[in-house]
Amino acid sequence: MPYSNSNLMIHKSIIIPFWLLLITALMSCGGNAKQTYQQGDELYIVTTTGMIADALNNIAGDKAKVEAMMGTGVDPHVYKATQGDLKMLSKADIIFYNGLHLEGKMADVLEKMSRQKTTVPVAEGLPQDSLLAPKEYEGAHDPHIWFDLELWAQAVDHAADHLAQFDSTNKSYYRQNTDQYITELQELDKWVTDKIAGIPQQQRVMITAHDAFGYFGKAYNIEVKGLQGISTVSEFGLKDVTNMVDLIVTRNIRGVFVESSVSERSLNAVVEGCNKRGHNLKIGGTLYSDAMGPKDTPTGKFLGMVRHNVNTIVSALKGESDDQAS
Ligand SMILES: [Zn+2]
Repeated sequence: MPYSNSNLMIHKSIIIPFWLLLITALMSCGGNAKQTYQQGDELYIVTTTGMIADALNNIAGDKAKVEAMMGTGVDPHVYKATQGDLKMLSKADIIFYNGLHLEGKMADVLEKMSRQKTTVPVAEGLPQDSLLAPKEYEGAHDPHIWFDLELWAQAVDHAADHLAQFDSTNKSYYRQNTDQYITELQELDKWVTDKIAGIPQQQRVMITAHDAFGYFGKAYNIEVKGLQGISTVSEFGLKDVTNMVDLIVTRNIRGVFVESSVSERSLNAVVEGCNKRGHNLKIGGTLYSDAMGPKDTPTGKFLGMVRHNVNTIVSALKGESDDQAS
């Protein structure tokens, strides 16, 4: 008996919206189909990282409330969803995340959500041959796609297409906003290229706590080495520290950077090791790699975060030449 009851209810709930849809379609003539979400007029978008939230904020403008689960200083590789996050996810109309295993500890939660609502891994639309596949990460791709601005623009475009599909009423509004944001990304891309090109080729080497800058290095022609691997989950060992110290001393590298979302512990061991061998090494500054800066500061926005990183890198790597000259 309960079975047939629930069956009846399902039928009812299907028939009524279908009639509404039909009437709307007949009356509007504009193909103005009502969306399946029922949260009222304003969309609620939830993202994993701040970088994705920044993109969605720009795309959606005043048509949505956008919230990121991961705030400043949060490491996405090891982040686990909190009770609060689960609430946000269950309330969300649509969810955007990076994919390529960036959110390694959230795979189950995201998988579960994908069965209930629209979830979009923004990296999924990128051509396979544009993704980096480091040797040590057999079978997996480097997830840090946001530091190649041209590639990130493609991911943003892909996210925008999904949002427009989901909420087709505002399709042209989203398109206009997206084109504007992509233009800003392209301008920033040119600026970064010029700034990095101003560093003499032999000094274009930087060391970071983990391998977050692979795409950055490839796009802007700068050699990048991370002490830890692609994910901060992998532990660094004494051998990694020794190898890194050897490399820094041999090549006289001055550009060593900490990251806001990764513990300094590993790089401090390298600095100590270098100083013991008479190579005076200073930390060149803090980079925002996998998380943006505090809200209401320039680095709390994606474009500001990239500008900060590039200015920090350029002044540290160029400063090296001044030191040597004096
Ligand atoms: Zn990372």
